[in-house]
Amino acid sequence: MASEFERIALHQTTVQARTWAQKNHPDCPANIRVEWSNRMTTSAGLAFCSRNLIKLSGPIFLDAVEKDGLAQACQKVWDTMLHEIAHLIARDGHGIRWVKAMIALGLDPEEHRYHNMRYGHKLNGGDDFHKWQDVSFVDKKGQKRDGYIRRLNAKRATVMVGQTKWYVPYGMLSKR
Ligand SMILES: [Zn+2]
Repeated sequence: MASEFERIALHQTTVQARTWAQKNHPDCPANIRVEWSNRMTTSAGLAFCSRNLIKLSGPIFLDAVEKDGLAQACQKVWDTMLHEIAHLIARDGHGIRWVKAMIALGLDPEEHRYHNMRYGHKLNGGDDFHKWQDVSFVDKKGQKRDGYIRRLNAKRATVMVGQTKWYVPYGMLSKR
């Protein structure tokens, strides 16, 4: 079990990473919120661009404290925070705007692009998109729909628009 001190150290690292990014990147949002989730177990971090919200996995980072020690776990929190902040700056998946933001934040986009399952996104299908991402598309009647990605496979994303599921090929999806 991680101690209270270790939990606080992990959280302090998120505050430091946010402050650092805000000082060093002119397009970093001023109002980034960070939440720890106990239910996130496959992704270390997720970015919710429309709300400037970053969610981090409690189980994955507490496990990292146990296995790798506090310093390593804090380093992973730092890297994951900047990866997610780069999404908030880019308003994008892992495209060119995200790559530029990563470089500006001092992270190697290749090294931190496909995080392994324990520390990063679980990425399937089009690597420009990931789970929970805010997206929009135009349906067959020409109406624009806004939703978020619930699931991904090799060819298409399952997009929730309200309570309705839509199956949308990646070519028809755009980020918002
Ligand atoms: Zn990402």
